[in-house]
Amino acid sequence: MLAIAIATPASAQEVDGEALRRDVTVLASDSMEGREAGTRGHERAAGYVAGRLAALGIAGGAGDGSYFQEVPMLRIDSDLSRTSLAIDGLGDLTMLEDYTLSGTAQRESGSVEAELVFVGYGLDLPGRDDLAGLDLNGKIAVRAYGGPRTLNSEEAAHYRSTIGARVSERGAVGLLLVWTPLVEGVQSWNRAVEGARHASTMTWVKPTGEAYSTAPGLLFTGSLSAETARALLAGHAFDYDDLLAAEQTAEALVPAFPLGRTARVSFASTFTRLSTPNVVGLVPGTDPVLKDEYVVLTAHLDHLGIQPTEAEGDDEIYNGAMDNAVGIASMIDVARMLREHGPRRSVLVVAVTAEEKGLLGSSYNAANPTVPAASVVANVNLDMPILSYPFADVVAFGSDHSTLSAPVAAAAGEFGLTFSPDPAPEQGFFVRSDQYSYVRQGVPAVNLDLGWANGGEAAQEAFLSGHYHQLSDEVDLVDFAQLERFTAVNYAIARNVADLPQRPVWNPGDFFGETFAQGHSHPDAASPVQ
Ligand SMILES: [Zn+2]
Repeated sequence: MLAIAIATPASAQEVDGEALRRDVTVLASDSMEGREAGTRGHERAAGYVAGRLAALGIAGGAGDGSYFQEVPMLRIDSDLSRTSLAIDGLGDLTMLEDYTLSGTAQRESGSVEAELVFVGYGLDLPGRDDLAGLDLNGKIAVRAYGGPRTLNSEEAAHYRSTIGARVSERGAVGLLLVWTPLVEGVQSWNRAVEGARHASTMTWVKPTGEAYSTAPGLLFTGSLSAETARALLAGHAFDYDDLLAAEQTAEALVPAFPLGRTARVSFASTFTRLSTPNVVGLVPGTDPVLKDEYVVLTAHLDHLGIQPTEAEGDDEIYNGAMDNAVGIASMIDVARMLREHGPRRSVLVVAVTAEEKGLLGSSYNAANPTVPAASVVANVNLDMPILSYPFADVVAFGSDHSTLSAPVAAAAGEFGLTFSPDPAPEQGFFVRSDQYSYVRQGVPAVNLDLGWANGGEAAQEAFLSGHYHQLSDEVDLVDFAQLERFTAVNYAIARNVADLPQRPVWNPGDFFGETFAQGHSHPDAASPVQ
């Protein structure tokens, strides 16, 4: 039977300001213990979100009516006392001074003796393959961070984050990053050392029991200090000073070559199995045909948890009000309004876990959807909108890549807001939050954020430098009037996308569409710097 589309006017759903305030306050309260994935605090927060959805009459969307998609995880805690690195001619190197190193999910402990090969930026672009003709089989790849400035920023971020996969595919067993001023500008060496001191990472586990990895050949990864890197490259036709010079050029042409030295590496970790839930709600579609397609709304529920300090009586709880209690609260209220409106397509609302551990909950959900994979048509993600000023424009990271730009722009226009382009493309934000997990499965996606107009640039900079991933990211920073406005726009976007007559598609020839569509899975984003 032919479905007759009846145009519904823009609905007059009202934002529930009370509920937004209550949800943010509860989720960012000390009793949620910073909502770190795999902890009691996150479990409590997940229970709260499921309870809110149930109270709103929104069914569980994790299968069998359940709200919880349990994500099986492996936690990898490095044991530095059993970790070492020695390189021929450089003597014994000192951990946390000359280098950092940690094992991966592939093996709990082991020793490797292998040749070192410098792979430059390790890029494989149309017309440029840094790894061409290089023998990496059984070798340790040594890489630099960066690449040509001519590359579009999102593509650059994508290529940088997939180097582990490329060297793994070619047989490398380890990957070491050389420290340069360019890396230092992204993350200081001191901070990297601090991170390595208590290195703890996670990944999800496949039904086969195998740990999910896009670089399954790598047994360890690490970094070499600038001094170690200089010594390692000394005497070669291309040395450390040449690398620093190349870093300053637009083309960033760097050769790849065997370093003529062998390294002996020992690594050890403690593996712990655990499970942490994505919370999934389902708003059924009303169109007899389109209801079998799903729009996935996401926001991450997890944050950084409790980090004990030496001093007594200190605040040790990372409440994560802006990151990302506001996103969850907004998504819950959007789910309520969608249910009242009755969208044409079905909508899954997913409070994903372990974003702060490397987009893991979304990666699991995108790779193991609770509905048929081919029926997932779009993702709209919310992550840390900085709701501290009267915003006048919105940005939808990724909207340039697909037909999602039209419904997003229309929603912004409905509220008299400007729809602005990415104000900081060099940051590569499109590949740095949960929407990228869906992009990697070929699903068009956007991350809704606020723009720089009307004081936004200063307000966002103030939050990023003063509160981002800090103890002070607390509920008093949130301007609730702005959260209400943001939620109204967010609802209009979700409704527009769910009601689109045509399934959203990538723009013709789009880089991400070409790279990931047609259903083949592909390397994912690790942190830009290991
Ligand atoms: Zn965060």
